[in-house]
Amino acid sequence: MDVGGGRHPEATMTVTKHRTCANCGSRAIPVVYGMQSYDGFQRAERGEIEFGDCVIIEGESPAWKCTNVECGLEFGQLSYP
Ligand SMILES: [Zn+2]
Repeated sequence: MDVGGGRHPEATMTVTKHRTCANCGSRAIPVVYGMQSYDGFQRAERGEIEFGDCVIIEGESPAWKCTNVECGLEFGQLSYP
């Protein structure tokens, strides 16, 4: 039986689905701009993403939002290709 190296694929993934709020330590989710698709709404209902404004203000629009409603810290900068 070949079990390979026993390395879990998750261990090599570098994609970050959420970050930790620097203010309260709660989970922070990505703020998504301009994507109002059905899939987007479903993800928002599950609390995986937060909808931002339709217009991105470069330098002001946050990339992450804290899920703690008493905190609600928005932080990070969107990066543009
Ligand atoms: Zn917070």
